Amino acid sequence: MGWERVIGQHRVKELLRRVISSGTIAHAHLFWGGEGVGKDAMAIEFARALNCLENKLEPCGTCASCRKIDLLQHPNLDLVFALPIGKNEQSGDDPVGSLSEDQLNSVKEQLRLKAENPYHRIEVPKANFIKINSVRNVRREAALSAFEGGKRVFIISNAEEMNAEASNSLLKTLEEPSSDSIFILTTAQKEQLLPTIISRCQLLQFDPLSEEELQEALISRNGVEKNQAALIARLAHGSYTSALELLSVDMVEQRQEAVQFLRLLLGAHKIPLAQEIERIAGLGDRSAVERWMKLLGVWLRDALVLREQGEEGLLNLDHLKDLTSFNQKFPRAKLAQALERVEASIALVGKNGYLPLVVTGLAIDLKRSLAS
Ligand SMILES: [Zn+2]
Repeated sequence: MGWERVIGQHRVKELLRRVISSGTIAHAHLFWGGEGVGKDAMAIEFARALNCLENKLEPCGTCASCRKIDLLQHPNLDLVFALPIGKNEQSGDDPVGSLSEDQLNSVKEQLRLKAENPYHRIEVPKANFIKINSVRNVRREAALSAFEGGKRVFIISNAEEMNAEASNSLLKTLEEPSSDSIFILTTAQKEQLLPTIISRCQLLQFDPLSEEELQEALISRNGVEKNQAALIARLAHGSYTSALELLSVDMVEQRQEAVQFLRLLLGAHKIPLAQEIERIAGLGDRSAVERWMKLLGVWLRDALVLREQGEEGLLNLDHLKDLTSFNQKFPRAKLAQALERVEASIALVGKNGYLPLVVTGLAIDLKRSLAS
């Protein structure tokens, strides 16, 4: 069975299958859409389908070629990503030739993680952009013919990380199509690519994954318990990579903090609340503040679900006691309005709003909505 390593994205899978069966494969593709929705995973799967020794449309997953692609060790597959600049690296050098042993080990480890999980986000220390030497290397290899009658597939992962030199070099390569080579650029920031590169590519848009798809993947791939999977799927914004990152966060403690905030907000103690606002605004990075707000939102959503429909469908089922006592204490809380305020604040965090102001504004709005 093929394509099963990619979660959801049925529209794209269908399209690629059709392209393979009709033999109308474009020379260059641009897979674009949010972070962690499966663009790289799909690119690897596409490479597998194009090189499988057994089956043309549905990669078998077991032949020597499929297995080598899974391990990212097939000579027809080249995964290009940002790398650090080596000591005394010269133009035209092998892109990894002048890296230190530590840097090389880090690259190897990242490739191992990516092979294990194609949704892994490759991050090599001090790798700020895709180097010209990496693209020159691609250019050299694209001129060679493919092994074993397959296709050479070059995946430029997070293509927006190419610097100007690398972009221009890639553009030249894309202008010299060879029948054996396929290029797949992946990006979550299409607008940062050269328009001339975009115009040479077949564009394929990836949608965010649904909460059901994420929940199902977390249960079947990561052994996450059903309620926990539903909660993470709710917070992950359609991204499996984000969902995996959330798995490593101490959600129990973070949820407790969100509840504590509501307690302080609706209690009589002004000073601890001010301290708490300061602490949240200073959580370090925007994504931490955003996560805190989402947890707060999920908790309020649960209070609303419990009040209107009962226990069925609660995401924080383990907080049933707290939720019940909240609803008893504040029977006329405007929960839907409070949820809207949380959503609006999350949007402000994303738009670079000044955090202490956003959190304070949210606190005032919530107090008004909940304690009415
Ligand atoms: Zn195969």
